[in-house]
Amino acid sequence: MKIGILDGDDIGHEIVPVTAEVMKAAAAKTGLAVEWEHLPIGRQAYDTLGTTLPEDTLPRLEAMAGWILGPIGHMAYPKVPEATNPHPILRKHFDLFANIRPAKSYTTLPCLHQGVDLVIVRENNEGFQPDRNVVAGCGEFRPTHDVTISVRVITRAGSSKVARAAFELARTRRKHLTAVHKDTVFKLGCGMFAEECRKLAKEYPDVTYDEAIVDTFAMRLVMTPQRYDVVVTTNMFGDILTDEAAGLVGGLGMAAGLSAGPRHAMAQATHGSAPDIAGRNIANPYAMVMSGKMLFDWLGRHHRSEPALAAGAMIGRAVEHVVEHRLSLTPDLGGDGTTTAMAEAIIAHLGI
Ligand code: ATP
Repeated sequence: MKIGILDGDDIGHEIVPVTAEVMKAAAAKTGLAVEWEHLPIGRQAYDTLGTTLPEDTLPRLEAMAGWILGPIGHMAYPKVPEATNPHPILRKHFDLFANIRPAKSYTTLPCLHQGVDLVIVRENNEGFQPDRNVVAGCGEFRPTHDVTISVRVITRAGSSKVARAAFELARTRRKHLTAVHKDTVFKLGCGMFAEECRKLAKEYPDVTYDEAIVDTFAMRLVMTPQRYDVVVTTNMFGDILTDEAAGLVGGLGMAAGLSAGPRHAMAQATHGSAPDIAGRNIANPYAMVMSGKMLFDWLGRHHRSEPALAAGAMIGRAVEHVVEHRLSLTPDLGGDGTTTAMAEAIIAHLGI
């Protein structure tokens, strides 16, 4: 299978190459044959090719099973049409409708809570996000100088697809799914999302299903995150709650993510490009490496590939070992290791 490597910006140039090394080493150990392909994207692509998303990127990605994408520092891009933020385009173009973001605590890391092991499945292509909830134009507009309108899009199909992905995931875990919304106020939008979740709950009698209103959920997530297993929610709520969940378990460096669609999946950590620490070899590679592990897991299930499943599991065990024994951890985790040293420690423990 073909897997793409797209560095992204700033710390992307550090965490993506080491993630690719970890994935290549795991694939070699499990006999997974992968053709790796580098694609330029972001600021580097703009500087060398004149655009942040070169014309051949989408067709080249189409031919791939999946790819790893580093964080995008689009806020620093020049304000010209050739320098767009590429990742919403990728999510939309490949219908990567489910953004799967785990949060897990470790006893060896400073965390607000121990015993946290939850996954938030966020709808990725609709909701309030104005750069991807319409096919043309923008979902936010200003009819007069003093009035701004933001449009929120909720569809039955979009809600149902992401809810199904969440039920399927819950089945592989502790079999508990919580749908988060605010149908008390957004009676039509959140109401439709909740209706679709409830319909599917009947198809998954083995999964305990409940619902929470988003503000109550935000409070409970801070106080008792251990009560949650899989959580499904709409785009903007998910955007906020996944950062909150990352904060519970050690910060953004611990926040892995996968955007999955019907045919492709994209490993992309939750965090941004962290320009404040770029170029110093101190970025925490955990989130990106675990995103790569999630890509292998997804490819394994999607293509029924035992070696891919084995490679994903192998990375998971090695990362847990490194974190649990505090081997070469980066400064955000209270260690004095570097990005490359932590990745080397992970590679050294593949196969344990
Ligand atoms: P975006 O809006 O693009 O998601 P952001 O505003 O959330 O970006 P980040 O770039 O994620 O900002 O950075 C927020 C803080 O978290 C910064 O102080 C940054 O250094 C830190 N941070 C983010 N990722 C990592 C990482 N992998 N390792 C260590 N620190 C990180």
